Amino acid sequence: MKDVRVNPFKCKACWNSEPGFRCVVPNAALYDIFRSQQKIRSGGSRKMPIPPCVAACPANICVQGYVGLTAAGLYDQAYRLIRSRVPFPHTLSLVCPQPCEGHCIHVNNGQPIAINALKRFVAERAVGRIRRKFLDELKSSIVGNGMSIAVVGAGPAGLTAAHDLRLRGYSVTVYEALENPGGMLYAGIPAFRLPRSVLDQEIKEILELGIELKTGVRIGQDIPVEELWKGHSAIFLAAGAHHGGMLKIPGAEAEGVMDALKFLREVNRGGRPRVGPRVAVIGGGDSALDAARVARRLGAEEVSLCYRRSRIEMPAHPDQVEQAEAEGIEIIEQAAPIRFLTQNERLISLESVRMELGALDGSGRRRPIPIPDSNFTVGIDTALVAIGQRPDSRFLKDLGLILDHRGWVEVGGLGMTSVERLFAGGDLVSGPSTVIEAIAAGKRAAGAIDRYLRGETAKAATFHTPHELKNVERYKPSHVSERVKTAQRDPSKRVSDFHLVDLGLTEMQVQAEARRCLVCGLCANCNACVDTFACPALLVSETGKIVIDGVLCNECGICAQLCPNDAIEVIEVEREEAVGAR
Ligand SMILES: Cc1cc2nc3c(=O)[nH]c(=O)nc-3n(C[C@H](O)[C@H](O)[C@H](O)COP(=O)(O)OP(=O)(O)OC[C@H]3O[C@@H](n4cnc5c(N)ncnc54)[C@H](O)[C@@H]3O)c2cc1C
Ligand code: SF4
Ligand code: SF4
Ligand code: SF4
Repeated sequence: MKDVRVNPFKCKACWNSEPGFRCVVPNAALYDIFRSQQKIRSGGSRKMPIPPCVAACPANICVQGYVGLTAAGLYDQAYRLIRSRVPFPHTLSLVCPQPCEGHCIHVNNGQPIAINALKRFVAERAVGRIRRKFLDELKSSIVGNGMSIAVVGAGPAGLTAAHDLRLRGYSVTVYEALENPGGMLYAGIPAFRLPRSVLDQEIKEILELGIELKTGVRIGQDIPVEELWKGHSAIFLAAGAHHGGMLKIPGAEAEGVMDALKFLREVNRGGRPRVGPRVAVIGGGDSALDAARVARRLGAEEVSLCYRRSRIEMPAHPDQVEQAEAEGIEIIEQAAPIRFLTQNERLISLESVRMELGALDGSGRRRPIPIPDSNFTVGIDTALVAIGQRPDSRFLKDLGLILDHRGWVEVGGLGMTSVERLFAGGDLVSGPSTVIEAIAAGKRAAGAIDRYLRGETAKAATFHTPHELKNVERYKPSHVSERVKTAQRDPSKRVSDFHLVDLGLTEMQVQAEARRCLVCGLCANCNACVDTFACPALLVSETGKIVIDGVLCNECGICAQLCPNDAIEVIEVEREEAVGAR
């Protein structure tokens, strides 16, 4: 005969095992019903221990949770879930390169869920009372521990570490060299991708937790590091990489050749540097694309971007490349600059050589090799050089830090540098990376500093990676559904201002998109069997998990079909075994 049993390891279980992590999602019937529906829709396939999108997010934001809540129309709850994990939900929704989408189970058919666009929708709706309430809850949860930490650098790594350390009870002072906080979010990314009002609001909310910010203070110059040790138990160094790479070719010193990072910083601080009508940008990363698009907005008529590898190897996100092309920027692939030509000391053209791609190099990309006699010249008035970023190596050496062979700060497993009590993270350690990687580094640092100072009693910061899912059988969606298409403002209009280019989704689009998500992992905030199918045989045990009353159960197995955690199993047993609570 049949028996229906609950597996306690799956019932109300969450992928997120970080000790002390408190998921803010309440039991919500609409969310439970959605998860049950998706289980049935997907043919009842086995759940994965961690949803791949979550494992791929460097900060392990619970994507399935907030997408599921969005599908259920519970937008405030979705915002709270994201905000409980990271302090920059809205900023991320506009600039994150979406590693989660690259691992979504729908990616195999080329239609991953538009996760970040959904995040933007809930972040935009979460205004006023909702954010205030969440912030007040955070503030009232802080219990001071009498220790103080200094954070050097108010970029996403530094501010996230400050936020998480404050929540763990520390007094925190953040020292920032520039006049405004935000790091590259402020000094690098242009306003047409990240409006300043969005960034300012999120930083204001972080500081409101009681974090002190000192701007216009360059540590090592305005205040010696020795001074910081006097008042703080540990230091977190998150100074980023704000120096542009140098192009060592003839003419690189000519008037009209500019460092793209300096150019972007000046524009983001309100300056309007003069660019000529013809601009060439050298590089293929975020800075290159941003510099080219800013140059267009400052009046350049012809903007070309010269990249030595092919388009698919460009470090910039393909969406950015597409948007730049729509704005009239010409991408010259497989070409490397060899000299700037001048006349009366003024820049007049750029000579480049065509490249072919050889075998893979150390970076895993094909090595560009110059093609003999393939030189060509483009007439230009301004050149913007965006060929990499470096940290302030003198400052790092003065601190006595050991650097790795590429010049980035070397840290041990806990994120501590070669100097006791001095931790480091973000671009300064990884090299130029992404906002979400910097946020994850800040979270890791907060956990590591806390454990270093308070020992094992402090909660650890555990992070999952896609590597853990290497041998896990992937969910195979039974049908292909199309990803929503996001829209942008008309290119001919947007090149004359710095307003946001990407248009968000409508609520109808959001609903259709969120409902494509198959909520692939287990969830601890589950009550779906009870919420969707109030069978009297389903009992809530003392531990909160479900047990089945064997006398009342008639082995119909409906609850097993509904359980989105795959926790209920229908099995064949001998008659005597099948009675009693299971
Ligand atoms: C033009 C551009 C566009 C980008 N676009 C994207 C994007 O679309 N998506 C994405 O995910 N990533 C993007 N990035 C990368 C991303 O911005 C960085 O990876 C991220 O900001 C790194 O964070 P961080 O906190 O480590 O350092 P930063 O953001 O660089 O912050 C470091 C801070 O430390 C301060 N500082 C330095 N030295 C000192 C000192 N001695 N004393 C006090 N303060 C100091 C600096 O002024 C700075 O504010 C972009 C980068 C650039 C340059
Ligand atoms: S549906 Fe019921 S049995 Fe399944 S995980 Fe949720 S609460 Fe547990
Ligand atoms: S379908 Fe949903 S839960 Fe599954 S990988 Fe994609 S976004 Fe994540
Ligand atoms: S309990 Fe559910 S919603 Fe909360 S983090 Fe875990 S999977 Fe996400």
